[in-house]
Amino acid sequence: MTDNILEVEDLRVYYRTRQGHVKAVNGVSFGVRKGEVFGIVGESGSGKTTVAKALVRVVKPPCTIEGGKIKINGRDTLSLSEDDMRRIRWNTLSLIPQGSMNSLNPVMRVERQIADGIHTHDRSMSNRAIRQRIGELMGMVDLPSDTPRKFPHELSGGMKQRVCIAMAVALNPQLIIADEFTSALDVVVQRVVVQTLKKVIRGMDLSLISIGHNMGLQAQLVDRMAIVYGGRIAEIGKVSQIYSEPLHPYTKLLIGSVPSIETKRELKTIGGFPPSLLDPPPGCIFHPRCPKAMDLCKKETPECREIEPERFAACHLY
Ligand code: SF4
Repeated sequence: MTDNILEVEDLRVYYRTRQGHVKAVNGVSFGVRKGEVFGIVGESGSGKTTVAKALVRVVKPPCTIEGGKIKINGRDTLSLSEDDMRRIRWNTLSLIPQGSMNSLNPVMRVERQIADGIHTHDRSMSNRAIRQRIGELMGMVDLPSDTPRKFPHELSGGMKQRVCIAMAVALNPQLIIADEFTSALDVVVQRVVVQTLKKVIRGMDLSLISIGHNMGLQAQLVDRMAIVYGGRIAEIGKVSQIYSEPLHPYTKLLIGSVPSIETKRELKTIGGFPPSLLDPPPGCIFHPRCPKAMDLCKKETPECREIEPERFAACHLY
């Protein structure tokens, strides 16, 4: 019996192009426990957002889920009909998409937008119950009680993002996926919104997948994290382990490239370029940029293995 709410096994999501398949997600496996905050971190083009879309099953052609399993509470969602999947969205699984605050309809009041979302996924709630729920949600995300009567342009960026958090938890889901949910905000507002999200998920005992490229922000929020590179998992571990003793050479370089206000040093970058996912390098996909690359790395793709309890890495060094 597993205490995972989500299990992803060998997920493969490709974009079909005239030149061939762009392997945006290529054999990704991980699990998320009940009540856990799990981070997925990687640079642009590493496949993070494609994983998020696949989990909610909102990928559209030319993007297709080519294989693997996505199990929520043990149920494989990839075999569900679209109607069944619609019942799972918002009720069990919610997505706060990238740029979500800009997806609010500018000519509809906040109240109407949240009510429409609730009504689409739960037709049993009366208008009165929906209004009451919206009032509760505003309190949960620390927004003034008159916010529902406002239009999005009357709200600041941080307030709009908190409206999106309220929408995501409106029907008490068990798992939320937040994709770069603070990326358009300044650092001070980012922190406030992260604190709000943390308070909401702890209060409701939800699981959260936080997707992003900002290592510092992720460190404030997550319990465990997966580092992704070129559509594959490089490493998974507790956030404290990843920061204090990273295993994978890519993780080490990624952490080394985070600027620090305490120590003055030249900003380090990772040499080379991200791999082409249309024609990835053979063997380990990171080998052209890896300072530790060996001959074996150019020929054999390392499997993501459990190196020590709760630590997984895909590297021939271990
Ligand atoms: Fe570097 Fe080889 Fe490990 Fe890949 S498998 S990260 S190339 S050492």
